[in-house]
Amino acid sequence: MRAFTYERLDGDSAARRRADTTDSAYVAGGTDLLQLMQEGIAAPRALLDVSRVGTDGVTAELDGIRIGAGTRLTDAIEDPTVAARLPLVAEALAASASPQVRNMATIGGNLLQRTRCLYFRDVTTPCNKREPGSGCPAQAGENRLNAILGGSAHCIATHASDLAVALVALDAEVIVERRNGERSIRLADFYRLPGDTPHRETHLEPGDLITAVFVPIAATGLSSRYLKLRDRASFEWSLVSAAVALKIDDGEVTAARVAAGGVGTVPWRLPMVEDRLLGRTIDVATLQLAAEAAAEGVDPRPGNAFKVPLLVNAVARALAAVADQELAR
Ligand SMILES: Cc1cc2nc3c(=O)[nH]c(=O)nc-3n(C[C@H](O)[C@H](O)[C@H](O)COP(=O)(O)OP(=O)(O)OC[C@H]3O[C@@H](n4cnc5c(N)ncnc54)[C@H](O)[C@@H]3O)c2cc1C
Repeated sequence: MRAFTYERLDGDSAARRRADTTDSAYVAGGTDLLQLMQEGIAAPRALLDVSRVGTDGVTAELDGIRIGAGTRLTDAIEDPTVAARLPLVAEALAASASPQVRNMATIGGNLLQRTRCLYFRDVTTPCNKREPGSGCPAQAGENRLNAILGGSAHCIATHASDLAVALVALDAEVIVERRNGERSIRLADFYRLPGDTPHRETHLEPGDLITAVFVPIAATGLSSRYLKLRDRASFEWSLVSAAVALKIDDGEVTAARVAAGGVGTVPWRLPMVEDRLLGRTIDVATLQLAAEAAAEGVDPRPGNAFKVPLLVNAVARALAAVADQELAR
């Protein structure tokens, strides 16, 4: 591992001292970044620890709920506001990693964790995301875990965060502190599709510090389900996940928010599924028809074609579970 310096920032120094060169990086819980450094995938010369800059905590505001970027995943799961009004977020977080990792990992770091693509994580192989222009062996190689939506000839790595899938369904915004003030970016616009520059993953600029995520009031308090399908029951990223939040009034769907994980190069909202639900009376046929729309636009490889029916079935199961919850209200 390359030698590096370490500095712990507080609220004041964070504003003055920014990770604004390619050679330095913020670190929060360190659960992803340190692994990347150990494996030689990331090699910053300076680590700026942002875990004590005072961005932790959950606040219920008039127009929505703010979760500080420095909030540990465990604390977010156990927060009463998150549990009561953002159960989709709580469920996605509880399905992430392990208790030990959740005790260290933060909301901001979770959104910026890097992909689990085998080639990205193996420095002995080419990878356009790790080393631009070197190639993408996943296209024809071992791609069982890779994306069926949003890929390009240069990259088909999936986005790994469960939290981001729940938040994209809820129209969340990422609050970013940058040199010239605060900025809010819709999570749906925060991540970049790989195109021919898969190494550029977000619209953050050098030095940008994530301070919070914000979920607008309209997306809070909905019945929801985060269904995560994976190779083993815990301590594993998703093969396919479905995030569903619905409101049903007098048997008719009045709000529908659906997204999927494990399938896209970015957290993947499914507006076609939502369109087939909104304004409809809920019955088994409507739910099935809506779930089938999840497969629109998929581009599977032979190794991951199984994800197409898995996605449709996951969405169908999550929709049915939430519809049952709503109808029982
Ligand atoms: C064994 C294991 C299993 C896991 N399983 C899952 C899973 O099932 N689902 C899932 O979603 N995740 C999973 N994870 C990933 C885990 O959730 C992330 O590693 C963690 O959330 C990252 O948070 P962190 O605070 O440790 O980030 P760090 O490792 O400290 O940082 C990650 C990145 O975020 C940047 N960063 C951190 N905070 C900020 C900030 N405030 N502003 C700007 N940049 C920032 C860092 O510079 C770095 O690039 C797993 C991890 C492990 C080790």
